[in-house]
Amino acid sequence: VPPAPLWPIIPFAGGDLDRADVRRREPEWIAARLADPTSRFLLLWRGRALVAKSGALALLSPAEVEPLRALALAPIFLGLRGERAVFAITLGGDSPPTDVPPGQAFLEPRSAASGFSAGDAGAFAQARSLFEWHRHHSFCARCGAATEIVDAGHKRRCPECRAEHFPRTDPVVIMMITRGDRCLLGRQPRFPPQLFTCLAGFLEPGETVEDAVRRESFEEAGIRCGEVRYIGSQPWPFPSQLMIGCTAAALDEDITIDGEELAEARWFDRAEARAMLRGEGGLWVPPTIAIAHHLIARWAAQPPIDGGE
Ligand SMILES: [Zn+2]
Repeated sequence: VPPAPLWPIIPFAGGDLDRADVRRREPEWIAARLADPTSRFLLLWRGRALVAKSGALALLSPAEVEPLRALALAPIFLGLRGERAVFAITLGGDSPPTDVPPGQAFLEPRSAASGFSAGDAGAFAQARSLFEWHRHHSFCARCGAATEIVDAGHKRRCPECRAEHFPRTDPVVIMMITRGDRCLLGRQPRFPPQLFTCLAGFLEPGETVEDAVRRESFEEAGIRCGEVRYIGSQPWPFPSQLMIGCTAAALDEDITIDGEELAEARWFDRAEARAMLRGEGGLWVPPTIAIAHHLIARWAAQPPIDGGE
């Protein structure tokens, strides 16, 4: 049996916009698109997404956006879908805006995103990460002056020292550690006692992806790894990580947890992993919104290794 066709389009990883970076730098073109009746706007409020009654991401016309109360920030140009420009705006206020079209509501995106099309979820991830970055980067990191937004939301510039500041993405490695026909999953102290997932950690400066996978595996679980392979990645807009999914071949099996990042780590065989994916047997893995789910599912669907190790 060949492995199942594996790498599905996972939430936030299916962005379909032409980001049209040359257009970002043309203020007249941007101003014309903001007024163009074919343009569409996705709305956020405090990181939540405006969702239509159907569960899809709501995309409003300029006429629908116009009467809304003051925007917290200038619109961000996300890109083009065909000829149609797509923007994102974020609304201010302490309570959810009520002046949105009837039947639409601001929802928590981790649960709502499963109802978005792949392209819309990607656009939402782009918008949410950009707005979060703007929210925390009002001042120049070099001289402390207030910075201004340029390039339709994709850059900030300091009027004093002319420094340019670009949105950040924080890379995180997340790895399916395997040895023979078993895989290593761990549980963080803040997790419910039944939830196990792949080990993960932030890349550090000067590190390769392979280095980070091996370092985190050893730090968190005392497991040394050999071969590391890249499988796929996922933007995670809470606020702006890039999850880099890998497999790692363990060189030993004696687990020593660090006790801080992990409360528990265990080896599981494929039957156990498949039961966890189905939600049977009292243990769980993360839901399908998380890349960990897909790394575990990919491995669990592979046939056993002949003759064991
Ligand atoms: Zn400056």
